[in-house]
Amino acid sequence: MTGGKDRKKKITVIVPCYNEEASLHYFYEEIQRVAAQMTETAFEYLFVDDGSRDGTMKVIRELAAKDKKVAYVSFSRNFGKEAAMYAGLRHAGGDYVVIMDADLQDPPSLLPQMYHAVTEEGYDSVATRRVTRKGEPAIRSFFARRFYHLMNRISDVELMDGARDYRLMSRAYVDALLSLGEYNRFSKGLFGWVGFRTKWLEFENVERVAGETKWSFWKLFRYSLDGIVAFSSTPLYISSILGAGMCGIAVMAILFIIVRQLLFGGSAYGWPSMACIVILIGGLQLLCVGILGLYLSKAYLEVKHRPIYIAREISGADANEKELPS
Ligand code: UDP
Ligand code: MG
Repeated sequence: MTGGKDRKKKITVIVPCYNEEASLHYFYEEIQRVAAQMTETAFEYLFVDDGSRDGTMKVIRELAAKDKKVAYVSFSRNFGKEAAMYAGLRHAGGDYVVIMDADLQDPPSLLPQMYHAVTEEGYDSVATRRVTRKGEPAIRSFFARRFYHLMNRISDVELMDGARDYRLMSRAYVDALLSLGEYNRFSKGLFGWVGFRTKWLEFENVERVAGETKWSFWKLFRYSLDGIVAFSSTPLYISSILGAGMCGIAVMAILFIIVRQLLFGGSAYGWPSMACIVILIGGLQLLCVGILGLYLSKAYLEVKHRPIYIAREISGADANEKELPS
């Protein structure tokens, strides 16, 4: 596909799909409409089927059969959206790459504006964030806000509240992301970590066209813990400081008891408070060990060098896998 100087710039749209049979048709129609408006570019679509259990693959195959711009990667099981995005980035051949949800919560109508920013305004990536969380359970919004607040305080990378994974990236930016081959991926952090010039666009929350969200509260909670462990060592420091502080207090308490015994005798009284202290310190130790264990388990997974995903099926001539920088 390397042509003359004036060949159209290619944009690869990566779409992670997990049980999205109901929304894929809407998505395809809508993105086609926007692509038709952007005459100076050539679009291609890369659907990453993240081990869906419904008819998602059937829909993708149908699309691929009638449109040769559609390619796909299909996972052997559900590896999660992070793995799907990574697979998409590895297989994307475009000059520009954009990641979009299949449920149209990432409005394709922003694409012309995003493309303009990377081609004319000198940005390397254009990111999006939603400024409202309309239609989302209040409890979920609340914890999401707390999470972003906490992350920005305890980690070096900057996280935007409401940031989406919807992002248009230049080739250089994509290659930088791919050079981060870590197993525990937290893309919202990685995006910021690689740097480059990023423009932020804001939009109002849109509810998904069809189907339902794939993120349970528990899944999001675990995801946020992953984010914290991947981008911050602060919990480790907190546990060490807490541990040291408690040791200090315990030593003083023991000295106090010895002195009290020597001066007044009768060491048997006051045992309930001692028991409290023992339990407190025991609990703190467990807490610290737990935090340590969290980091250790992450390190363990990294050291094993497991692949981030396993593809069962890959289509399309353009879906050539990028060689990884080693
Ligand atoms: N997704 C995925 N693997 C998963 C969960 C989600 O590929 O394990 C995809 C999903 O198909 C959708 C996108 O990630 O295209 C966002 O998921 P969803 O809309 O359920 O999340 P929400 O918008 O509710 O945060
Ligand atoms: Mg969604």
